[in-house]
Amino acid sequence: MGVGGMAEPRFGPAGNPDSFYRAGYKSSTDMPAWLRRLGLTAYEYQCVRGVHIKEDTARRLGEAAREHGVALSIHAPYYVNLAATDRTLREKTRGYLLDSLRAAVWMGATTVVFHPGSPGEDRAAALERAARTLREVLDAAGEEGLDRVALAPETTGKVNQLGSLEEVLALCSLGGNVVPAVDFGHLYARSGGVLAGKEAFAEVLRAVERHLGRAVLTHLHIHFSPVEFGRGGEKRHRTTLDPGLGPDFTPLAELLVEWGLAPTVICESDGRQAEDALVYRDIYRRMREAGPGGVRGSP
Ligand SMILES: [Zn+2]
Repeated sequence: MGVGGMAEPRFGPAGNPDSFYRAGYKSSTDMPAWLRRLGLTAYEYQCVRGVHIKEDTARRLGEAAREHGVALSIHAPYYVNLAATDRTLREKTRGYLLDSLRAAVWMGATTVVFHPGSPGEDRAAALERAARTLREVLDAAGEEGLDRVALAPETTGKVNQLGSLEEVLALCSLGGNVVPAVDFGHLYARSGGVLAGKEAFAEVLRAVERHLGRAVLTHLHIHFSPVEFGRGGEKRHRTTLDPGLGPDFTPLAELLVEWGLAPTVICESDGRQAEDALVYRDIYRRMREAGPGGVRGSP
């Protein structure tokens, strides 16, 4: 298919940037109109400290998003731990994910992103426990008719969290509506700054396609932000204004153009997540205008 007929990637922020509040806005229901004015087409609603959104607010946010052409996803609470050894904690995890799925249905979000959990002593056993808990969540979601929303385990930034690419792909291979959320900043931090550049990014994309097929790859849910890291991986999310921080988005943009992919790219830059989503969108557009193979000739 030619560039003209190619589906467009979507770019947008995770949560509300500082500039949104500085402009005098307070409610997330104003975000879709605000994003459209900026030229952004995705928004990840943050439930990271709990799913507190009321049904009526969620429905209003969904209506605004549809009106302004913004695709919604939700980030589930940080307290999710599919691998918890404690039964009560696993039940709470099920509750957080089901609450997130309900909110997603209210607002018409396509995807609920979550961090898989902590591995404890035995990583393989933890992954099995996580898969079992996720299976239970999928069954409960199916019974409640919540299964058209995708659950997306995320590649995490710290080595001592579950969420290597392999672990995420293993959870996605369970069947059901489970897709990966590939956070390239986290993979970069987790690898100590090694996983960067075109060949490394291509290998990640190839692994997704190998395990889950072309359609999942084409519409991949991506997180991308500059990340400060130390020996254990991620320390904190920074912004494109901080010098010397990776990963660089340009090689990924080249791959998106060359492979004709149309992912959702969510930026989690600290306070500047909308501005940096625009930085990434513009890099992508420049690559697309240069065309496959013409990229290196551009300034
Ligand atoms: Zn996350």
